[in-house]
Amino acid sequence: MEILKTLIIGSGPAGYTAAIYAARADLNPVLYTGMEPGGQLTTTTEVDNFPGYPDGVDGPTMMVHLQQQAERFGTDVRVGFINKVEFSIEAGGIHRAYTEDGTELQATTIIISTGATAKYLGLPSEQRLRGCGVSACAVCDGFFYKAQEVAIVGGGDTAAEEATYLANICSKVTMLVRKDKMRASKAMQHRVTNTKNIDLKYNTEIDEVLGKQVVEGIRIKNNKTGGTEEITITGLFIAIGHKPNTEIFKDQLDMDDSGYIITKGKTTETNLPGVFASGDVQDKEYRQAVTAAGTGCMAALDAERYLQKIEEPVKS
Ligand code: NDP
Repeated sequence: MEILKTLIIGSGPAGYTAAIYAARADLNPVLYTGMEPGGQLTTTTEVDNFPGYPDGVDGPTMMVHLQQQAERFGTDVRVGFINKVEFSIEAGGIHRAYTEDGTELQATTIIISTGATAKYLGLPSEQRLRGCGVSACAVCDGFFYKAQEVAIVGGGDTAAEEATYLANICSKVTMLVRKDKMRASKAMQHRVTNTKNIDLKYNTEIDEVLGKQVVEGIRIKNNKTGGTEEITITGLFIAIGHKPNTEIFKDQLDMDDSGYIITKGKTTETNLPGVFASGDVQDKEYRQAVTAAGTGCMAALDAERYLQKIEEPVKS
């Protein structure tokens, strides 16, 4: 069986950028796309903050560009899903990965770029309007609601941070927290309560997102009193957490309490030699396409250096 120099798992900005760099370094990478080829950006309409696109670009188009760029240098992009891995713990050891149809792959380095999945409330009306006013990324999409009224759901640090971010752009932000307190750090809570145009509503959940083609409002419910009310908004931001896609790496790689892969210092190295992680799968802090791409580049460079090191003849 051929032993690949580099296997990349995942096809978001991190995976494709790792592929561009690995291919240019003659590592002949094979990239498995996963269930959602192109990753989270394929569910976004407009991307306005990726450098190099002065007029913006829609998410799916950008991902096609990244794939074409990776293929131009010889990346073997395969549509498929890796559902099992067996990592070697030895330096220079061979790692194994298995596709959903049972094909075994062997590789000296593996770059994990499987990303994270934003959590949604699960309401049918919310799912229907995703990308049409419902978003899980304020930094990506907040600008489209400039001077408009929006709402955000969640009471953690992400929701608090995104609420204050949106408050700078939008005329009013209604923040909906399902409990009678927020989970966010005290400092973040103070920022929210000190921002004049954030209307904070505790014990409040969304009953339904209103609007046929685009979001026009929400019906909210106080879970203590049972009272409902409708408010008019044009944008709804869901900030109730992300789930890193790391299920298949459990018990093999070091992860934090939320399941994000831990990388060493400023590198993309995991606790196992030859296994690297890039993008949202190891970053719950920034979660931007451009930061994911940056760490994808780092992972390819780390993999290249690792291969050079293990291939070096032993000096006598
Ligand atoms: P968290 O898991 O910390 O918070 C999720 C929030 O969403 C909670 O308030 C939770 O409510 C609420 N929630 C969950 N499900 C629902 C639902 N179905 N309906 C309504 N509300 C819901 O996620 P975050 O993304 O905020 O943060 C993840 C991690 O990243 C944390 O460790 C955080 O500290 C960190 N982080 C740090 C930042 C920083 O330091 N600058 C910035 C952003 C994140 P409940 O409390 O009721 O469960």
